[in-house]
Amino acid sequence: MTRDPRYDILFEPVRIGPVTARNRFFQVAHCNGYGWTQPQALAEMRGIKAEGGWAVVTTEEVEIHPSGDCEPFHEGRLWSDADIPALALMAEAVHFHGALAAIEIMHHGPSSANRGTREVPIGPSHRPVTAYDPVQARRMDRQDIRNLRQWHRDAALRARRAGFDIVYVYAGHELGIPMHFLSRRMNDRTDEYGGSLENRARLLRELIEDTKDAVGGTCGVAVRLAVDELMGDAGITSTGEGRDVIAMLAELPDLWDVNVSAWSNDSATSRFQKEGFQEDHIRFVKQVTTKPVVGVGRYTSPDRMVSLVKGGVLDFIGAARPSIADPFLPKKIEEGRLDDIRECIGCNMCVTSDFTMTNLRCTQNPTMGEEWRRGWHPERVPATGEGKRVLVVGAGPAGLEAALTAARRGYEVHLAEAGTELGGRLIRETRLPGLAEWIRVRDWRTGQLQRMANVTIYRDSPLTAEDVAGFGADHVAMATGATWRRDGVGRDSGFAIAGFDHHAVLTPDDILAGRLPEGPVVVYDDDHFYLGGVIAERCAAAGLATTYVTTAIQPSAFSVNTLEATAIAKRLVRAGVTLVTRVSAARFDGEALQVTDHLSGEMRGIAARGLVTVTARWPADDLFTATEKLMQGPQGTATLTLRRIGDCNSPSTIQSAVYAGHRWARELDEAVTPYYPRELPQADSLRRFWT
Ligand code: ADP
Ligand code: SF4
Repeated sequence: MTRDPRYDILFEPVRIGPVTARNRFFQVAHCNGYGWTQPQALAEMRGIKAEGGWAVVTTEEVEIHPSGDCEPFHEGRLWSDADIPALALMAEAVHFHGALAAIEIMHHGPSSANRGTREVPIGPSHRPVTAYDPVQARRMDRQDIRNLRQWHRDAALRARRAGFDIVYVYAGHELGIPMHFLSRRMNDRTDEYGGSLENRARLLRELIEDTKDAVGGTCGVAVRLAVDELMGDAGITSTGEGRDVIAMLAELPDLWDVNVSAWSNDSATSRFQKEGFQEDHIRFVKQVTTKPVVGVGRYTSPDRMVSLVKGGVLDFIGAARPSIADPFLPKKIEEGRLDDIRECIGCNMCVTSDFTMTNLRCTQNPTMGEEWRRGWHPERVPATGEGKRVLVVGAGPAGLEAALTAARRGYEVHLAEAGTELGGRLIRETRLPGLAEWIRVRDWRTGQLQRMANVTIYRDSPLTAEDVAGFGADHVAMATGATWRRDGVGRDSGFAIAGFDHHAVLTPDDILAGRLPEGPVVVYDDDHFYLGGVIAERCAAAGLATTYVTTAIQPSAFSVNTLEATAIAKRLVRAGVTLVTRVSAARFDGEALQVTDHLSGEMRGIAARGLVTVTARWPADDLFTATEKLMQGPQGTATLTLRRIGDCNSPSTIQSAVYAGHRWARELDEAVTPYYPRELPQADSLRRFWT
C-alpha cells in the first residue's frame, strides 16, 4: 500500500535549530514507570517508537540534581556523569531507527518533597511543597539560582554526551521550576526574579540562554511551556501572560512545545475531553513566533493532523498517549494503512502506571511495558501456529485480542460468541455517559479479524461443554467474562448484606442491559473505579434523585490514578448527585439504605426505593469447569489445552483482559521464560562494608 498524497505534508522534514526531524510526528515526553530504574526496558520501548516512524522520541522528565528528586516516582535521572551510560542506551536505540532523541531535563523545585534524597526543597518563595508531604520549600537566594543554572547547564552537556539531539528547558505543567517562578501565586519575590512578568520570566530566559550556550551549536533547544493553567486569573492564561511570555521569548528557543496545565488538564481523558481539546489555547503560538511549534490533543486522525499543519496551528503533531496505544502510528499513515491504526481510547490506564510506579501499560496496546522484559513487539509475533486450530469462546476484550493474536501467529482461529454483537462488556459499558470512545478496543480488533482468511467468527453461538470438547481444537481459550454480585460481598464486606436480595436491588449488569432503578436511588460503590460514578451519572441524567455512596474516601477513588477523580466528583455534583463517602452499607429494605459512618460509627438511613450495588464480580467460568470435567472423562481429548482468560479467570479491568488475551495467544506452543527478567544491579557496584 502507498501513502495517500493528502498526507504528504505530514512527512516533510522540519528543522529544529541545528538538527532536522524527518517528519512531523513528535513523541513528546511521557512517564512510564521505568525511569532510571529500568534503562534497558526504557531504551527498548523508546526504540520501538522510533522504529514506528516518530521523528522525535523524547524521554520522560529527567531530574538534574538531588534537590529536585521525584521519588517515589520513577523518572529519568542525570545527576552526574555516572547516569550517562543508562540514558545513552535510549539515544542509541532511537538513533538506530533513524529518529532524533530528545531529553526533558528538569528540576521540580517546590513540586518535590525530595523524599528520596532528603535535600531541602527549593523554590521562588517560602511555600509548602505542592506534593503531598508536610514540607516547605525554601526561598532560593541568588547563590541557589546560580547553582540551579549550573546544574541545568551541566545536565545539558551530559545529555549531549549521552547522544541526545534535542535538549529541553521544562516549564510545563505545574511541575518545572521556571513555571513556579512565572506564576504570580507561587512567586512573591521582590528582587529581579519577582514582580513584573519580565522578572518572573527571567529564570526561564536564563535557562534557555544557558542551554543554547552549552549545547545549542549541535543540539536543538526546546521549551515546554504550559500556556494556560485553566484557572482563570489565578493562573497563566493563553490570552494573558501565557501569550506574553511566548511573545517575549519568541525566537530564543529552537522549538516551542506548548500545552495546558495541570497534568490532569493536559492528559484529560475521553470521558471529559475529545481529540484536539487544547487547540483553542495553543492556536496563538504560531502567530507570535517563527520557531516550530508542537502541541498535543490525543490526535489519531491523519486528516485532523493535516488540517492543523495547513491551518498554521502546529508544525509537529505531538503525542504521548497515541504513541503508546500505537507506536507505529506514523508508519501506518506513511504506508497507507489507516485501518491498522490502533487509536488511543483516552482511558488513562497508562497514567496509572506512573502513579503506581510500575511498568507502563495500555488498554489498546498489550505489548506496552513488555518490550524488553518479555521481548514483545507491537507489530511482530512469532509465527508458529500454522496447521493448528484454536477455539476462543467469548468475544469481549480478552477473546477478541486472543483470537487476533493467535490469527497473526498463523493459527486457524475460531471465535464463538453467544450474542449477535461482538465486544462483550465493551458493547454495554460504552453506552454509558462519556465512555463511547472505548468502543475502539472492539472496533480495531474486529476490523483486523474480519480481514484475516484464517479466522472464522460464529455469532449467536452459545457453546456448551460438549461443543467445546468436540470441536477438534488444539487450544481453547475461555473468555466468557464475569457477572456482578448481587449480595453486597466485596472489598468492604466479606459477608452478604441484609436486604440486598430485595427486588429493588440492581447490579451494573442490569443497568448495562438498559434497566433503570426506581428513584430515589442509591448507587453503592465498593468497586472504586469508574463504573459506580458513571452509573450515578446515568441515573441522574434519567431524572432520578440520585445519591452516590461509597466505602472509599472519595468518589471513584481509584480514578486519582487516571487523573479523573476531581473531574468525576465535580461532574456528579453538577449533575445534582448527592455524594456520601466513607460509609459501609448495613441493610436495605426498599425504602432506605442504612449505612454505618466510618468515622463516627453511627448508623443512618439514606432514602432509596432503588439500589444499584457495585461491589465485586463472579467469574463466569461454568463452561470452563464443565469442559474441564468432560475432558477428564472418557471422551477427553488429551492433547487439548484449555485455559481461562480475562474476566472469566479473574475479573479486572478491560486493560487486563486485553493483556490476558494477548499473553495467552503469544505464549501458545512457545517456550516461555518461567520468571520475570529484571534489571539487576551490576556486581561490581555492590559495596561491602564488612571487609
Ligand atoms: P472479558 O472482559 O474477559 O473479555 P466480557 O464479559 O467482556 O469478558 O466478554 C465475555 C463474552 O463471552 C461475552 O460477549 C459473552 O456473550 C460471551 N460468552 C459467555 N458465555 C459464552 C458461551 N458459552 N459461548 C459463547 N460465548 C459466550
Ligand atoms: Fe490511550 Fe488508554 Fe492506552 Fe493510555 S492506556 S495510551 S489512554 S488507550
